[in-house]
Amino acid sequence: MDMMINVTKTFLPPFDEYAAVLKRAWDKGWITNNGELVRELEEKLEQYLGVKHLLFCNNGTIALQIALKALNIKGEVITTPFSYVATTGAILWENCRPVFVDIDEKNFCIDAAKIEASITENTTAILATHVYGYACNVEAIEKIAHKYKLKVIYDGAHAFGTNYKGRSVLSYGDISTCSFHATKLFHTAEGGCIITNDDKLAETIRLYHQFGHIGDEHFCVGINGKSSELHAALGLCNLNYIDAILASRKQQWLYYKTFLQHTSLQLLEVTENSPFNYSYFPVVFETETLLLEIIAALKEKEILPRRYFYPSLNTLPYIQYQPVPVSESIAKRVLCLPLFYELGSVIQHNIVQAILKVHRQQSL
Ligand SMILES: *Cc1c(COP(=O)(O)O)cnc(C)c1O
Repeated sequence: MDMMINVTKTFLPPFDEYAAVLKRAWDKGWITNNGELVRELEEKLEQYLGVKHLLFCNNGTIALQIALKALNIKGEVITTPFSYVATTGAILWENCRPVFVDIDEKNFCIDAAKIEASITENTTAILATHVYGYACNVEAIEKIAHKYKLKVIYDGAHAFGTNYKGRSVLSYGDISTCSFHATKLFHTAEGGCIITNDDKLAETIRLYHQFGHIGDEHFCVGINGKSSELHAALGLCNLNYIDAILASRKQQWLYYKTFLQHTSLQLLEVTENSPFNYSYFPVVFETETLLLEIIAALKEKEILPRRYFYPSLNTLPYIQYQPVPVSESIAKRVLCLPLFYELGSVIQHNIVQAILKVHRQQSL
């Protein structure tokens, strides 16, 4: 059923362009282990994002795990319950305890004003997500981290293209990570990166992602976080289209906004100066019942939005429950509408009409 409209559709460059870049790896007979394409992608991404050190790796989850490891994070990590499961998963995987701080009702990121109350003598770090690509309150977070000597990691999986005060939001924190998964705004099929401004830390991260050794010299225990020339080639091709991708997202985002803003539905409040890349269009409905009815109505039109993020991560069955009411409430009522490069206004119009129809009936 290729008529189905999903919440996202992977951007693919013309195949010939991919083949031409890939041929460079073929000609050399070199397809992984820090090849020429990986290095070129890292350099181009550093330039594009304006960051000092960027390490390309095989996904955004290993990027988080390596970040926690490289900063030697132990004990309790203050984090957001409103994110993809990988954010909490990485903390647990590194044998740390996630301490959930509730989110800001308006932009869905961790509520910086509530962080201090959750800090204990066991707290070592803050791991926050730039939710839907909207930047966290990085200044307030940095202030708290400085006061309590905590490390800061940003899960910037959605934040490619988001700028804050004239620079990429991925340049903030001790470490920022990004995901280049096929569903993300910029992608390499599978992939991710780790970003830091610290030279020493960058070296450690590079070592960790290649088993802890350089040639025959072994320094520490490591993991395999490397990606390949095949993935880097896709990234190099996609990077040529990034401005067009960002521009089309913004246009589609504003289209949805035009038709949904004069309703009682809660949308992300965004202005020209907001630290945002327009990568997701979340809609918060009044009730979960209404949300389920909307999903059913859209499904009839073969449109599949996504309950993203759902459930609130503090309710995961394998961790001890900590109440975070705002996150739990939003997670039950939020839907991300389809948003991707080739999404046309005809489909967007259908989506808007289907939502408004159910919403009007409910409000009568
Ligand atoms: C996609 C995503 C990840 C995981 O990235 P992968 O590349 O799929 O491992 C982590 N955090 C958030 C917020 C994400 O959306």
